[in-house]
Amino acid sequence: MSSDSDIITTMKGFQCTLCNVNLPNMPSLDQHVKGRKHKTLSTVRNTRKTQEEHSVFVSGIKPEISQTDISEYFERFGPVSDVIMDKDKGVYAIVQFSGSESIQAALSCVEHRMKGLQLRVKPREKKEFKLIPKNKNDPQNLQRVLDHLKPELCQLVSVNAQIHYIVERFQLGENEKKARGLLVQLLQEVFVEFFPDSQILAFGSSVNTFGIHSCDLDLFLDLENTKVFQSRAKTTTEQAKEGMSDDGQSEDSILSDIDLTTASPAEILDLVATILKRCVPSVHKVHVVSSARLPVVKFHHRELNLQGDISINNRLAVRNTRFLQLCSGMEGRLRPLVYTIRYWAKQKQLAGNPSGSGPLLNNYALTLLILFFLQNCEPPVFLTVDQLKEMACEEEECVIEGWNCTFPSQPIAVPPSKNMQDLCTLLAGFFSFYSKFDFAGSVISLREGRALPITDFLSQNKDDEVMDENQPTKTNQQRPKLGPLNLLDPFELSHNVAGNLNERSQRSFQRECQEAEKYCRSLQYQRKSNKGKSWGLVRLFTPQGQVLQTKTEQLTVSIPFKLASIPEGLRNQLHKAGDGFRLLWFQKVCSAVEGVLKTILNCHLTPSTAFKEDSAVAAEELETTAASLESSTNDSFESVESNTESSSLGTVAVGHKRQLSSDSDASVSPQGKKPRLARKGKSEFPQWICVLKHIVWAGRRKVRRELIKDTDSRPEGSCMELESQVTAYITEKEPELKDPLEFKVQSQMVGGTESTRAEFRFEPTSDKVGVFHDVFHFLEAFLPKMVETLLRREVGNA
Ligand code: ATP
Ligand code: MG
Repeated sequence: MSSDSDIITTMKGFQCTLCNVNLPNMPSLDQHVKGRKHKTLSTVRNTRKTQEEHSVFVSGIKPEISQTDISEYFERFGPVSDVIMDKDKGVYAIVQFSGSESIQAALSCVEHRMKGLQLRVKPREKKEFKLIPKNKNDPQNLQRVLDHLKPELCQLVSVNAQIHYIVERFQLGENEKKARGLLVQLLQEVFVEFFPDSQILAFGSSVNTFGIHSCDLDLFLDLENTKVFQSRAKTTTEQAKEGMSDDGQSEDSILSDIDLTTASPAEILDLVATILKRCVPSVHKVHVVSSARLPVVKFHHRELNLQGDISINNRLAVRNTRFLQLCSGMEGRLRPLVYTIRYWAKQKQLAGNPSGSGPLLNNYALTLLILFFLQNCEPPVFLTVDQLKEMACEEEECVIEGWNCTFPSQPIAVPPSKNMQDLCTLLAGFFSFYSKFDFAGSVISLREGRALPITDFLSQNKDDEVMDENQPTKTNQQRPKLGPLNLLDPFELSHNVAGNLNERSQRSFQRECQEAEKYCRSLQYQRKSNKGKSWGLVRLFTPQGQVLQTKTEQLTVSIPFKLASIPEGLRNQLHKAGDGFRLLWFQKVCSAVEGVLKTILNCHLTPSTAFKEDSAVAAEELETTAASLESSTNDSFESVESNTESSSLGTVAVGHKRQLSSDSDASVSPQGKKPRLARKGKSEFPQWICVLKHIVWAGRRKVRRELIKDTDSRPEGSCMELESQVTAYITEKEPELKDPLEFKVQSQMVGGTESTRAEFRFEPTSDKVGVFHDVFHFLEAFLPKMVETLLRREVGNA
């Protein structure tokens, strides 16, 4: 059944082109070929092939012609096994014969006349059988959708027009909205029967003005009034038992089985699921997902082909939906931007989480990122959430679960923005903003409209935990879960809306922003192509961009600021350093790198001369350095070797240190409001000339294993001692290099205006034996690990 031509050999093994799967070796290939998927697809392909070879394509028919009419007419050429018609349009039919000789007979007939119509009969077009992946997010499917959009987008006159077209194309139509409204009404009628006085409210993209055709229907079942009803009914029943009259609550009411005030959300949702299954027509695939942050009942509506979620503790989501509606009403440019950026993020597989949960951004988080960018435009397009709160009147005050959710109910209450930038510029601005954003070192606050230093969230400050008596709302009692991307919900301030992201997805997001930013600077983005080539949004939407690494990047070891791997003691020091935390952390890392090279790898290290042309800048900035930073760095900074031994970094870093940001806003505006400090002067960044005489980078694993075996366990202390021993062992046993390797290491602090990290650029200055690249690749993996260990160790000793 399977044909050899389905299997091709690749660099990584084999590929089955029929099933579109990669197989690493022969056994897995054998297994695949014998497996169900491959067999089924082979059978389907064979059937299709037979059908193609046995059928003809007939056009020129009319809608009133039936399948039987066609079958009867073509029987004269031989037995007909099937007729497939496109009944809706009534334009063509495919007639399948039992034998292939009938085809020749039908094709050689000069004229086909049937019921006054002249039919055209042609051989079937041979189409290559291709598996269409079911996953909507599969790049092939994403490309297919884009291919349909492309001609329309390309013929428009401007990027602005293309952006508006995206809205037109994807937005929920009036009929769809009406159908959703009717379903909500039906659910309301059903639920109120079981939960008296309950209310069902739609939230999320169906109603926040950003909905697309396939978006889900998010529903909140508000049972607050039902609880009141239930407790009243309970009292009445007790009174009835004592001889008073019953108020008529039926004995078999579902409410008599459950006490809403004490039941767990999962118990209540089980009940909701049962009601959905039994009482709502067309609803199927009902199941409870209790593991989610907010448990939900999921269902599917057959006729509307609609996925629905019902939650019961989600008043905040209803409110934040209301907030997004307000923003949309306040500023007409928001909707087109949201549709365009949501589509871009989907194409690049940065957002959407197809199965609900996942490590990608969800659309709510993405929308907040857009709003935050618009708050930071010059002049701002949006006010901060705090400013909006001030514009609300007394009746609009709203506190939910202790969080202040006040904002004006009508857009008219808010003055229009002075920002006049068009959509094309704002879209490019969004990419530029996040391509340089310091995700690692900041927490995004829409409340304040700025990025807060991550260190504000590190240490448990007791003062924060006390509720402000004048403001009976929550402030900082609970800390958000910090991660690679920190985006505070505008109302539930202890919730990181992007807390589900992993480092990979955060990096992809920023990398794609950088790619998009580069593209938006090109003429292809801004100008319509006269030659019919893709331009404007089309190229921006190409699925999954690939970023090519440049040569210089390959020779740089980058150590990212990773909160999760910073030990508690150092966290506290960083916290004390306030906005100067980046420099303090950088100095610690440099000191550790120096320690790894010098002590652990036994390199001969000489501090290299500082850049002369920058020293004046550095000296000037040194004077403006905040005293707080001075004390925090000097108090805590120690060389990894010992307190007394002078470290070359000690001299360089302290002598040339400067504040990375002169006020707490420095990390806030990646839009060039503040200079990119880290790159301006280099003199404060240490650099060394390093000489290596032994092959200490090679064969370490084997030596390490031997050393552990010899002593029968790991040596005392951390792995730092073990690694030093490995070096000593190699140095002693292996001959010296014929010519020592000499290379320069230049450090650089990046942060504030992009993801905080320490970068170490390696450049050979003398490599007669040609080992530099091996050394570099070794250090690429070894250095970050060892730095982490050394930082932990230093804090432990402090
Ligand atoms: P779509 O369904 O098109 O992906 P959506 O805006 O409806 O977009 P959902 O993930 O379905 O996004 O979430 C529905 C609503 O739930 C959001 O509009 C928001 O009000 C709320 N919500 C979703 N995720 C979060 C979150 N992480 N934190 C707070 N509220 C959230
Ligand atoms: Mg939704």
